[in-house]
Amino acid sequence: MKIQKYDAVVVGSGPNGLAAAITLAQKNLSVLIVEAKATVGGGMRSAELTLPGFVHDICSAIHPLASGSPFFRTLPLDRFGLEFIEPPASLAHPFDDGTAVLLRRSIEETAAAFGSDKEIYRQIFAPLAENWTPLADDILAPLGIPQHPLLMARFGLKALQSARGFAERNFQESRAQAVFAGCAAHSMIPLENLSTAAFGLVLNTLAHSVGWNFPRGGTQKIADALADYFISIGGAIEVNHTVENIAELDFADVVLFDLTPQQILKIAGNRLSESFRRRLSRFQYGSGVFKMDFALNSPIPWRDAECSRAATVHLGGTMAEIASAERLNARGTTADNPFVLVAQTSLFDDSRAPAGQHTAWAYCHVPNDSPVDMSEIIENQIERFAPGFRDCILAKKTFSPRDLENYNANYIGGDINGGAAILSQIFTRPVAKIDPYALPAKGLYICSSSTPPGGGVHGMCGFHAAQSVLRNEKQFRGRI
Ligand SMILES: Cc1cc2nc3c(=O)[nH]c(=O)nc-3n(C[C@H](O)[C@H](O)[C@H](O)COP(=O)(O)OP(=O)(O)OC[C@H]3O[C@@H](n4cnc5c(N)ncnc54)[C@H](O)[C@@H]3O)c2cc1C
Repeated sequence: MKIQKYDAVVVGSGPNGLAAAITLAQKNLSVLIVEAKATVGGGMRSAELTLPGFVHDICSAIHPLASGSPFFRTLPLDRFGLEFIEPPASLAHPFDDGTAVLLRRSIEETAAAFGSDKEIYRQIFAPLAENWTPLADDILAPLGIPQHPLLMARFGLKALQSARGFAERNFQESRAQAVFAGCAAHSMIPLENLSTAAFGLVLNTLAHSVGWNFPRGGTQKIADALADYFISIGGAIEVNHTVENIAELDFADVVLFDLTPQQILKIAGNRLSESFRRRLSRFQYGSGVFKMDFALNSPIPWRDAECSRAATVHLGGTMAEIASAERLNARGTTADNPFVLVAQTSLFDDSRAPAGQHTAWAYCHVPNDSPVDMSEIIENQIERFAPGFRDCILAKKTFSPRDLENYNANYIGGDINGGAAILSQIFTRPVAKIDPYALPAKGLYICSSSTPPGGGVHGMCGFHAAQSVLRNEKQFRGRI
């Protein structure tokens, strides 16, 4: 590494590291990103994992949070090659009777599939979708005085409920309950837990307000656009450098970690008080994921062809089944019928695979660090709704929770959200503190998904961590 003085160093180049670095560089601070891997991106990388010509998203694939991010929306990323594709439907949720429900941009068209729940669905989601832009400022932010108190109060009353309770109280139709449960299961915790409704509400709302989009060419394009923009405003990036000890970074006034508590304790524990180390070490990681990538000789042969109108398909059947799988994970047992998330972006993006051929991305939730090989179980779930799927497979690659952690040190035990989204950690992570981003040591900050608002590719943890730096570091004030 060239030893040169920087105002700030960001350790890790995930969406939050890049967002933090960009926010500081926009204020004319000199900023260096140090990244362990050979390329930038964290959970936003794509590669030919199976066969030549098949581009797979290694981690994240579907990006309503990126396209709906209050911070990313302010950046000229289209000028740096980023183009989002919106499929005709955000989500398909197939059932055992061979039919499927689609979440479409139009609330009316979506609600029409929910029979007697049509009106209540409209009443819940129309106001949320109309107000997504102001709501996002408060939802994708640390706890504090909301900018839009009335909207937030209305959202909060629903969001704090358990997903299961919310669905049972509001929906009579099993299909509406199941679709909501699938969205809420992105929380990766039991759907009976308080505040899991928040995940269902946000993801359902994003389907109607923004669309569950994805970048042409692969998720790597988001990383590349962010990195190129960062460099264009004077930022510097150093790859292939794993930071092991905070002393390596003493040439910077401020260090922001796009890392989770366990790693920060190893790298900078000696700069933290014993009592804070104890608090940080109590941070809880969540369930892991088992992930598969497929190269296919044809599109997935869904029983209901409507499933091919969405880039995302939720496989789990009823709410009871999805809820049971998530409960089992929390108890340390894998499910035989897990909730499986499938992305089929190549249906709408011909740059992902050779002509006529396709890719598929799928994962299910498993207990943290589970050693169980879920590949057959995931394929069985896809076959259940798409008989003949196995005959389409040309090649495949699996990632166990341990493989994911080896790939990206932030995925502790395969936890892709930087920590469990349980009530005690969802708003106040990594510890309960007025400013969750400032570590109690001179010039040290945390900016990863282990801070509010948590997992996903939205960059808002990084943006808010950078605001904390700009508030706290007096030496920068005269210059910005
Ligand atoms: C299989 C999978 C599917 C997902 N699907 C989606 C999805 O569809 N949509 C969505 O929005 N989100 C999805 N996510 C979640 C999303 O990718 C993460 O929440 C997000 O990337 C977290 O961003 P981050 O910046 O906090 O950290 P990360 O993206 O994890 O970045 C951390 C970076 O730090 C680097 N690093 C780690 N240790 C060091 C060190 N010691 N020194 C230097 N560098 C270091 C890592 O190499 C990495 O590049 C998925 C994740 C996975 C794994």
